[in-house]
Amino acid sequence: MDFLPVFRTLRERRCVVVGGGHIAERKLALLLRAGARVEVVAPTLSDELLRLAAAGHITTRQRAFVDADVDGAALVIAATDAPGVNEQVAAAARRLNVPVNVVDQPEVGNVVMPSIVDRSPVVIAIGTGGNAPVLARMLRAKLESLIPQAYGELASLLGSLRERVRSAVPDGVARRRFWERTLDGPAAEMIFAGRRAEALASIERGLAAVDTERPPEGEVYLIGTGPGDPDLLTFRALRLMQNADVVVYDRLIGDTIVDLCRRDAERIYVGKSRDRHAMPQAEINQLLVRLAKAGKRAARLKGGDPFVFGRGGEEIEDLAAAGVAFQVVPGITAALGCAAYAGIPLTHRDLAHSCAFVTGHHRADGGEPDWAGLVRPHQTLVFYMGASNLDAICASLVAAGMDSAMPAAVVERGTTLAQRVVTGTLDSLPALVRAAGCQSPLLIIVGAVVGLRDRLKWFEQAITLRL
Ligand code: SAH
Repeated sequence: MDFLPVFRTLRERRCVVVGGGHIAERKLALLLRAGARVEVVAPTLSDELLRLAAAGHITTRQRAFVDADVDGAALVIAATDAPGVNEQVAAAARRLNVPVNVVDQPEVGNVVMPSIVDRSPVVIAIGTGGNAPVLARMLRAKLESLIPQAYGELASLLGSLRERVRSAVPDGVARRRFWERTLDGPAAEMIFAGRRAEALASIERGLAAVDTERPPEGEVYLIGTGPGDPDLLTFRALRLMQNADVVVYDRLIGDTIVDLCRRDAERIYVGKSRDRHAMPQAEINQLLVRLAKAGKRAARLKGGDPFVFGRGGEEIEDLAAAGVAFQVVPGITAALGCAAYAGIPLTHRDLAHSCAFVTGHHRADGGEPDWAGLVRPHQTLVFYMGASNLDAICASLVAAGMDSAMPAAVVERGTTLAQRVVTGTLDSLPALVRAAGCQSPLLIIVGAVVGLRDRLKWFEQAITLRL
C-alpha cells in the first residue's frame, strides 16, 4: 500500500489553494464542503473565484505564489497549469512539513485526492495512488449506483443512538449483533423509504428486546472457498465471511481470500499439509465447538468444497453432537475449477458419460481404490491429493487394463495466476510432470476429454494477455 487512506478533519483549518482557474475552483469546492477556511493564491482569478471571495466564502491573495504562503496550512493544493510553479509549491510545503497535493502530478506531492462517494457522514474514498484516476472514477460510478442516497441519513440515525445502545448493551459482541440485526431488518428499509420516525421506533423495540443476560449464540459456518481464484467464491460465502468473529483456515486458503473476511475478525491458522497436520483434525473439531460455545460466529474456511475430500463431514459431526448450530456453504471443488480453467470438459457426449472423483492418497493400511472398477469406457477420472503417487496411479490404471496411450493431464494450482497444465498420456505424463517440477496442490485428470484442451484452453492465454 503506497498511501494510507485516512479521514482528516479540516473544519476551520486554513487550507491554501495555489492557482486561479477551473482546476482550483473544483478542488476548493471540496475543501469548502469539508468546512475548511480556504485561501487562494494566484495573480489572476476566475470570475467564479472572485464571486466566492466577494461572498466571503474564501480569501484571496492576488499575486504570485511565495514560499511563505504555505506556512502553517493544514493542506496545500497546487492547482496551477504551470508545472514549474506546482513544483515550487510542493517543495515549499515539503520543507515546512505541510501536506501537499499537486493536481495531475501526484508524484510531486505527498497527498493524493481520492474519488469520493459522499453520503455524509458515510464517505467512500477510492484511490489508485495516482496511477489511474479514470479507473477510480469508474469504480466510483459503480458504487454510486449501488449505495442508496439515504445511507447518510441511516448513519446519522445510528450515530445518534450509539451512546444509548452502548449503555443498554454493554457487551461488545452482543452490541455488534444488535447493530447487524438492526441493519439487516426493516429499520434500514424504512429509512430508505423516508420513514425516519418509524425506523427509530423499530430500532427502539429491538433494543428493548435485547436479552443482556443470555450470552449471544455462537455458530459455525463451514465455507467452501473454491480452488483459489477469489472470484469463484459464492455470495453467501462472502457474506458469512464478513459476518464471522473468528476465521479458522489452513494452508490451501490463499491470503487474498482470508483478507476478504471482516478486518477485525480473529484469525486462527490450523495449517495442514498432507503429511504434517499442524493441528490434528480432532483438535480442530474441538476448537470449533469451543468457539461456538463461547458465543462466537466462526467461519471455517475450506479449499474447494467442504464435502469433497475436505473432512467437512467429520467437523460438523462433532458440532452436531455438541448441539452447536452450523451452516454449510458449498464451494467450487478443485475438479470443476481446474477442469474449467484448463479447458477440459469433464463430460462430453462423445467421449465421457461419467466422471469419478478419486483420492490419490492411499492410506498405508490398504484402502487402495478398486483400479479395475475405475477402468471403464467413457469415464473421466479425477485424482485429488495424487502429487506424490502420480507414477503409481498411472501404472495401476495401465495394469488394470487402461490403454497406456490414454490422454492424461496434471493441473497445478488451478484457477490461480500460477496455474500450469501438463498434458501427455498415462505412459508419458509422470516424466513430463517431473521435468516441469510440478508440486502440490495438483490434480490429475485422466480420460479422452483431456484431448479437447488443445482447442478449448483459454485461461493461460487470458493471463498472458493480462500480464
Ligand atoms: N475440498 C477440496 C479438496 C481438498 S483435498 C476441494 O473440494 O477441492 C486437497 C487436494 O485438492 C489437493 O491435493 C489437490 O489435489 C486438490 N486441489 C485443491 N486446490 C487445487 C488447485 N487450486 N489446483 C489443483 N489441485 C487442487
